[in-house]
Amino acid sequence: MRHARATLPTPTSTNSFWHSEPNGFLIGHRTTEDLPAEADIVIVGSGITGTSAARYLAEDERANGKRIVLLEAREACWGATGRNGGHCQPLLWDRGADVANFELKNVHTVRSYIEKHNVPCEWRTVSGCRQFWTKEVMAEAEKEIAQLRIIAPEIASQLKIITDKEELKQHRVSPDCIGATLTPGAGSLWPYKLVTFILEKLVREGRLNLQTTTPVTEISSKDNAHTLHTPRGTITAPTVILATNGYTSAILPHFADLIVPVRGEMSALFPPEKSSILPDSYGMVAALGQPANADDYLIQRPYSGVPNPAGHLMFGGGRGAGTLPMIGVSDDTVIDPDSAAYLRGALLKVMQLDGETAGVKELKAAAEWTGIMGYSRDDHPWVGKVPEREGLWLSGGYTGHGMPNGTLCGKAVVDMVLGEAAGDGIAEVQARMVEKGDIPKSYLITPERLAKARLWPTVEQQDNGGVHMNGLV
Ligand SMILES: Cc1cc2nc3c(=O)[nH]c(=O)nc-3n(C[C@H](O)[C@H](O)[C@H](O)COP(=O)(O)OP(=O)(O)OC[C@H]3O[C@@H](n4cnc5c(N)ncnc54)[C@H](O)[C@@H]3O)c2cc1C
Repeated sequence: MRHARATLPTPTSTNSFWHSEPNGFLIGHRTTEDLPAEADIVIVGSGITGTSAARYLAEDERANGKRIVLLEAREACWGATGRNGGHCQPLLWDRGADVANFELKNVHTVRSYIEKHNVPCEWRTVSGCRQFWTKEVMAEAEKEIAQLRIIAPEIASQLKIITDKEELKQHRVSPDCIGATLTPGAGSLWPYKLVTFILEKLVREGRLNLQTTTPVTEISSKDNAHTLHTPRGTITAPTVILATNGYTSAILPHFADLIVPVRGEMSALFPPEKSSILPDSYGMVAALGQPANADDYLIQRPYSGVPNPAGHLMFGGGRGAGTLPMIGVSDDTVIDPDSAAYLRGALLKVMQLDGETAGVKELKAAAEWTGIMGYSRDDHPWVGKVPEREGLWLSGGYTGHGMPNGTLCGKAVVDMVLGEAAGDGIAEVQARMVEKGDIPKSYLITPERLAKARLWPTVEQQDNGGVHMNGLV
């Protein structure tokens, strides 16, 4: 079966709330006026993954003196990371204990960086409250958690199931909800501000050449060197890291069936007058007749933000209510009006919003927009070396769950690149990393995994069949 490739990021896109305070230093930024003809390492993509790779290269002595260039099709951080729900929440069950531990470590790493550098990105440490709205999805969650108690009791002990109506109310969840799980150690943040803080720092310190509005249209490879074609000319390097997530197959067609673009819908809603801040970050499974495999997700911005002090309810999802295609779509210039309408109305029913809600039928939107995720056919990110393309590396395919993965996946690629350059075989480097918990084995790109994943139903077939692809939060 042939699979449609993603297209390149469109030059324009819907207006994400997170871009309402753009980073002035980075807008239109090109560290050098001309695109360098050569580099030692080129990174493609300036979201959480590409930025993390750039940061860890800059921090690693083994990369001292290397010319690092980052190419971005749009403005910096204008892809999924600049358009997402703002959750950084580890999933503790579903994918195995090694993945849970990796995600916990990832969130800790993100938080430590923010604290160390005092990054003004509205980080709030919260519990993740995942709501289950039908008896079936609640029973499924309880079954999985019971299994986790057997195979990984130390992780399971961090989870709490709540079904008591009073307790649900304390978490501001409607008592109509069947039950919820509470997970500690989650965070909510303004992701664009974190990523652009890191990028600006790297550029100002002279450790990165960033070239925005420079799409890579093709990669040609010869004699272990890769030439990246752009409308501004070419750049050649022995090592290229693709951090292009949902758009990967536009320049790596071989991955068209493995990382599939999926459009997601987001909104920033004004809370009711005089309402108090919500205590948790939230995921909602099967709420208000939504399909069980397409979650809704909510965080609240603090009321103290400047110059946007409104405590917006950042609410995404509404896939079941939508009428436009989403799977296989790499165009985020479009809003699905039905998903958007669902998002404006649903919180008044699924949450206990206090303040002045009497007579309010829907919340007013400060912004509504879309963004492109990369769904992985076997539900795990793809991290490592692209087979049969010496020097070409990839990290992407987070299935709408990149914030608790992208930072350490970006680091993992850097460790693989530099480990191999130091003379170790890639298999040996990766085995060491898996052993240390630096990357889950199931994330590694291997010929065996590629073949096995291709036996799975396609992403579209899984979605049509109601399979829950982890998805958001
Ligand atoms: C609406 C929405 C809500 C989401 N909510 C959450 C959430 O709450 N929590 C969570 O964990 N995850 C969420 N996600 C998923 C999360 O945002 C992604 O998994 C994560 O941001 C991926 O980061 P990335 O750096 O790999 O990709 P991106 O942030 O998409 O970055 C890739 C970059 O590569 C650039 N690029 C692509 N192709 C080329 C090319 N050929 N040449 C040059 N540049 C190129 C793009 O322009 C883009 O800037 C959401 C995603 C969406 C769309």
